[in-house]
Amino acid sequence: MTAAMSLGAHESATQKAARQAKAFISIMTVVMVAFPFLGMAFQGLGLDWDIGDDDVDSVSNALAYITLALGLNIVVGFAGLLDLGYAAFFAIGAYTYGIFTAYQIMPEWSAFWDPLAAISLVEKIHRDGADVVHFTLSFWIALPLAAGISAVCGVLFGFPTLRLRGDYLAIVTLGFGEIVPIVFRNVKSVTNGAAGLNGVQAPSLFGHSFQVNPKPYYYVGLVLVFLLVLFSVRLRDSRIGRSWMAVREDETAAGAMGVDHVKAKLLAFAIGAAFAGMTGVFYVAKLQTATPDMFGFPVSVMILVMVVFGGMGSVWGVVAGAAVLSLLQTWFLPSLTNWSHGIGEAVGNRWMQKVDFAGSTELIFGIILVMTMLYRRDGLIPAARKQAALSFDAQNVQGVVRGGFNKAAAAKLLRDMPKKGGNLLEVRGVTVKFGGLVALNAVDITVPAGGVVAVIGPNGSGKSTLFNVITGLVQADGGSIKFDGAEVLGLKPHEILERGIARTFQNIRLFSNLPVLTNVLIGQHARLHTGVAGAVLNLPSASSEERTALQRAKDIAALFGNRLTPRLGQVVSNLSYANRRRVEIARALASQPKILLLDEPTAGMNPAETLELAEQIKSLNELGLTILIIEHKLDVVTQLADTVVVLDHGEKLTEGKPAEVRRNEEVLRAYLGRAATEAAHAA
Ligand code: ADP
Ligand code: MG
Repeated sequence: MTAAMSLGAHESATQKAARQAKAFISIMTVVMVAFPFLGMAFQGLGLDWDIGDDDVDSVSNALAYITLALGLNIVVGFAGLLDLGYAAFFAIGAYTYGIFTAYQIMPEWSAFWDPLAAISLVEKIHRDGADVVHFTLSFWIALPLAAGISAVCGVLFGFPTLRLRGDYLAIVTLGFGEIVPIVFRNVKSVTNGAAGLNGVQAPSLFGHSFQVNPKPYYYVGLVLVFLLVLFSVRLRDSRIGRSWMAVREDETAAGAMGVDHVKAKLLAFAIGAAFAGMTGVFYVAKLQTATPDMFGFPVSVMILVMVVFGGMGSVWGVVAGAAVLSLLQTWFLPSLTNWSHGIGEAVGNRWMQKVDFAGSTELIFGIILVMTMLYRRDGLIPAARKQAALSFDAQNVQGVVRGGFNKAAAAKLLRDMPKKGGNLLEVRGVTVKFGGLVALNAVDITVPAGGVVAVIGPNGSGKSTLFNVITGLVQADGGSIKFDGAEVLGLKPHEILERGIARTFQNIRLFSNLPVLTNVLIGQHARLHTGVAGAVLNLPSASSEERTALQRAKDIAALFGNRLTPRLGQVVSNLSYANRRRVEIARALASQPKILLLDEPTAGMNPAETLELAEQIKSLNELGLTILIIEHKLDVVTQLADTVVVLDHGEKLTEGKPAEVRRNEEVLRAYLGRAATEAAHAA
């Protein structure tokens, strides 16, 4: 009763927050739409506030920065790829539109151009006594075109740099960001060099040119922001967004859970670049010029500061961060400079008369960045809220017993299992060497369909390496691994997962900063199909797939009784050790495996928890799931396994029924050392 009430109160608190956020967004939308005309409204009310054209233009610039920050947020915030040269894609988009509308490249007119003139891509003009071509690419075509070109550049750039992470990637992107403006500076015939393109065409709509009126640009910017916020939110909450976050949190685990990290990263680069390319078109159309200086390193850094200040990975945070910082730059700092000069004159302070805040933007941004890191690391609006541990009541709301395992429910969640009898997994003569160290030496292991095989052996005997080679995380130096009759050696980890081999890790590798539910959803990655278009357009197929996936994830979590269900929204790093192990198993089950590889699943659990987990593993096996388990606790091994394989120094020592193996002298020796075995005999 109290439990139900506390859950009710909890839910209504989050609902209230959501309602407040919605109300705020609605009010802001109305204000933003009315903004260029607010001056008139103020005057009507007898107030002395004016919204001039320059104010509208300043806010339009802020809108451009918001779209850029949203794009960079996909690369840095969602996918965790530190990009210090993001402005390069902004430049590519800008020059795409600039070159095809400015009076820069003007070939001689010939009949070839007639059809293009008919669709208004070019016009015939008269220059220096000859008919020449003037490109007049429509702004509206240029937006998607530049997005596409920038996206292709993003992929081309991403491809060779994919192997790099962290600092190395940052350095390479920094270089790319420097090179692109230099190229634009040097191909003078195309870009007019440092002087920049002149006479970039203003957009027109229904035959009316925007010219230099800031209002229509403002509204185009507003629509762009609206669209890109929508895209960002939809991508974030989709299979695609989850794959980015998985790669960000743990690339190895992401691969083992079916995420192709190459594809995920390229996609993030491409979409981030597309956002920047589109913004480039908007920006140069508004300025009607493009120079290489507009896209230098300071711009990349400024956008990055906006993302960090707003909250990496948080869509609304990034919008707020970019808005605050760009308005700070265009509105507040110049005003502050003026006030300071005024006060300085009044009080006779020379420093205050001279100081120029607007000229020290970079310094001020630097200070803001340092302050953010010191006092608000997750930014203005953090992507994930800090959570308190669950109260006792909240833990027990589901009215289910502690632990437990719902076998009937599990039966529905596992897919059709291979028929018992044949061998599901056949490891033959597999050797793995790390330099001079032979971690596995010609090891043979067979796992029958529907069976449980346990691998035991002292630390360093190669057990985890065996799992790593089966799941494609380390390369073999020989041998063969057949799964369901087909060779899997040499496949990528995500391909192996697709075949139906799922695993857990000895030192738990969850996506720590993501909630339990998201972790389990990522486990389903390989079984879902939604792509970028489906997610962005929220196609019926995508949303129904998402609903089913969500329900499945909840059902899988519910297999562990009330251990995980009340904690679905909790970030994994908040969980107890045992619960993290359960999440990892749930995540592996979500991929609908045929075989489950468990690497010391009960390590760190107390005896009661160990017993509970062993029973759950047994239940899974009774439902037809084949299990290969590494385990130190011999009573667990005896309880679960049909066959025990003993590894020592990378070699298979023996194999047999649990009871036989327990009596085997060599095994005792491997575990306890010779002296101990002899002592045991003597006694
Ligand atoms: P176990 O899981 O049985 O404790 P492992 O498979 O983790 O043992 O390790 C077997 C041996 O291989 C150990 O000597 C370990 O140090 C070595 N090893 C494991 N992974 C690597 C690696 N990536 N690089 C180098 N040596 C490794
Ligand atoms: Mg190990």
